[in-house]
Amino acid sequence: MTRRISIFGSTGSIGLSTIDLIRRDPEAYEVVALTGGHNIALLAEQARALKARIAVTAHEEHLPALRDALAGSGVEAAAGAVAIEEAARRPADWVMSAIVGAAGLPPGLAALETGATLALANKESLVTAGPLIMETARKHGAHLLPVDSEHSAVFQALVGEDLSAVERVIITASGGAFRDWPIEDLPSATLAQASSHPNWDMGQRITIDSASMFNKALELIETREFFGVDPGVIEVIVHPQSLIHALVGFNDGALMAHVGPPDMRHAIGYALHWPERRRLPVERLDLARIGSLEFRAPSDERYPALRLARAVMETRGMSGAIFNAAKETALDGFIAGRIGFTRMAGVVEEVLTQLSGDAGLINDAFTLDNVRAADQMARERAAEIISGA
Ligand code: NAD
Ligand code: MG
Repeated sequence: MTRRISIFGSTGSIGLSTIDLIRRDPEAYEVVALTGGHNIALLAEQARALKARIAVTAHEEHLPALRDALAGSGVEAAAGAVAIEEAARRPADWVMSAIVGAAGLPPGLAALETGATLALANKESLVTAGPLIMETARKHGAHLLPVDSEHSAVFQALVGEDLSAVERVIITASGGAFRDWPIEDLPSATLAQASSHPNWDMGQRITIDSASMFNKALELIETREFFGVDPGVIEVIVHPQSLIHALVGFNDGALMAHVGPPDMRHAIGYALHWPERRRLPVERLDLARIGSLEFRAPSDERYPALRLARAVMETRGMSGAIFNAAKETALDGFIAGRIGFTRMAGVVEEVLTQLSGDAGLINDAFTLDNVRAADQMARERAAEIISGA
């Protein structure tokens, strides 16, 4: 039986890895929707090769180019955020949510509302609207599967276990591009330096977020929301080799570690075949050659983002949406050369401090509209702070 699948963010790093897996067994899948951004040539090529029913670009100005590129293929073309959300309402069995940023939330929710299994790479969905995502999945009987290496690892370590026996959830961090830099050099880190990761090959935004540890900050919140565990049980450990992705500690003192090569096709493939395990084209580790694994505690001074995430996990409510939106805006500012590398955390902290005092805003009910409003307000505040700097 073929499975109907859709990939949101098919032209990105996770999207390409997902397509790599499904292309190995094309008979097994029927592709419903693919979506991308500016890379119209790649989106059209993917849609033709996979015989997708519809291809959608996020940008309306690219619609004529997409139509041209798909002429004669029988693939429908569409554009804009609303068209992406509509594509997510088309019936599918398995949906990959791999758009980067808060823009991934509406299509993910729409897919869950159809009851589709949602493979969630877009961690921003859980950071901005964790309770809404979890409740929507529950209400529609939809399965939600993590596609972040750490969260897939925790998920796998919990198979057959009782959550009440969990004492610790430890997610690992490579430490990013600057883990060995003197702290006083960080303010002058350049965009090119921040855009290269020691172990993982990922999209530019998450790569920079790894250097600043904002990625791990988002993942702390993602862990809290996905597994519903107390923030106090979640730990971050710097592990430069990126071979252990996470560990779960139980009340008998056992730690179950998930070990594997830094290749997202493992987490994607696990979610694709879940609840089965199938052969995946990932490297088999040679432990003798690896020799040793290292761990160190993350320094608060080097990684202020972790402290901010702890505060967000306590406050909850709209603070996740505010945190993420301020982070996205600060990251845009760094990419555009308007602020320095270490200023990003300062901008996020100022926005959080300014908006956290607004109890009405923080305690708003978890609806998509309220999350969007908090997101918008945080983006505006962050932009003001950046332009005043
Ligand atoms: P990427 O930048 O390589 O790709 C992002 C995709 O989203 C592209 O298809 C792009 O066209 C699309 N996109 C960008 N902005 C959009 C918008 N406003 N509206 C609609 N589509 C838009 O990113 P990535 O590295 O593949 O990451 C995707 C998601 O997966 C992120 O949430 C990231 O945190 C998460 N993730 C990635 C990795 C990884 O190894 N790359 C690992 C874990 C989690
Ligand atoms: Mg991760």
